[in-house]
Amino acid sequence: MSDNKPEADTSYQYKQREIPEMGHRGFKFGEGKISGTLACALGVLSFLTVLCYKFPEYLTTPELREAYDPWILQEVLKYGMWASLAFATLTFVIGGKYRRLAAIGALMTVAGMALGGYNIETGYVGPSAISFGLDWLVLAFLVSAILFIFLEKVFPKYREQAVLRPDWQLDSFYFAFNHLLVTVLLLVGNYFVAEYFGWAVSKSFQAWVQTLPLWAQVVGLLLCADFVLYWSHRTFHEHPKLWKIHAVHHSVEHMDWMAGSRNHVVQTFVDRCMAMVPLYLLGTSKEALDIYVAFAAFQAVYVHANVHIPVGPLKYILCTPQYHHWHHSSETPAIDTNYAVHTPIYDMLFGTYHMPGKHWPAHYGTVKPLPKTFLKQLAYPFKAEAGDDPAVDVPPS
Ligand SMILES: [Zn+2]
Repeated sequence: MSDNKPEADTSYQYKQREIPEMGHRGFKFGEGKISGTLACALGVLSFLTVLCYKFPEYLTTPELREAYDPWILQEVLKYGMWASLAFATLTFVIGGKYRRLAAIGALMTVAGMALGGYNIETGYVGPSAISFGLDWLVLAFLVSAILFIFLEKVFPKYREQAVLRPDWQLDSFYFAFNHLLVTVLLLVGNYFVAEYFGWAVSKSFQAWVQTLPLWAQVVGLLLCADFVLYWSHRTFHEHPKLWKIHAVHHSVEHMDWMAGSRNHVVQTFVDRCMAMVPLYLLGTSKEALDIYVAFAAFQAVYVHANVHIPVGPLKYILCTPQYHHWHHSSETPAIDTNYAVHTPIYDMLFGTYHMPGKHWPAHYGTVKPLPKTFLKQLAYPFKAEAGDDPAVDVPPS
């Protein structure tokens, strides 16, 4: 069934996606899997949070420390720890094979309590040259998991797809790895823009930008950032050597809120540096920048999510999950399309827009399969294989 919208490839037979059987990966009431998983997740997060309080110089993000109230987080930690113990107890009462998960959660919580628990002292944090963003990881995971698992359950595109779908461990590892690197990323990004784009800063232009209404500054940020990100993304697709780096991101075969985390570390650094250039040059107000960063962070996860919320004509203005899912499709008409991050306008403008009506992709991933472990994916772009033709995944645009 193909409709006749101009952006649809009318010669291509679009198909329905078939989700492999995931019944054994789902959560059912009464088997102890829900309580065991919650006990384990809350126990691990509580222990990591206590570590953040214990070693803030090395494990927390200076930029983030200024934004949150550590005393409120201590309250959250208190409820998290007791909830972990309660869920662990419930799992033991239910019995079954998930008791091991519950035991891990309870042990982590008890270890956190032994280190000071939610009564641990907070206060002055000494300076340190570099730190890991463990606080950023814990907060981002909590907020994203609650928000996006809720959206995926209430507005699912593929109801049959389990939260713990194939490769979820790999993508969780990427999620953790990329978030831990936040301080290094910020340092490298700030150095990059100051070193290579310092000459382009115009104080008078930035002063004029700051006289604009807030909404105009935010729209300006969105449009300028997306122009840079569109061309950077397109270059990663069209240059065979860069494609091997970007192919790691495209190797995801099940789209959900965690899928966008899969990025080669080189990609993570390049994306961060490129995204900072327009922000640095525009010099908008802090308020506009904060709104943009929050929106961009939400949209980056949302477009990968297993969510379908019809938005009417807004889909021509903002990138949606359907639009970005097509970018991840391995089907011929979708390859090398939908590069933009915030608004599909640039794809329409530069001839790379693909939104075939109501159709969604039947297949995701790269044409040529990639290895499925973090280390092998890390090495993948630098490894020449026998008979390797990197362009094989990249049909001409
Ligand atoms: Zn891409």
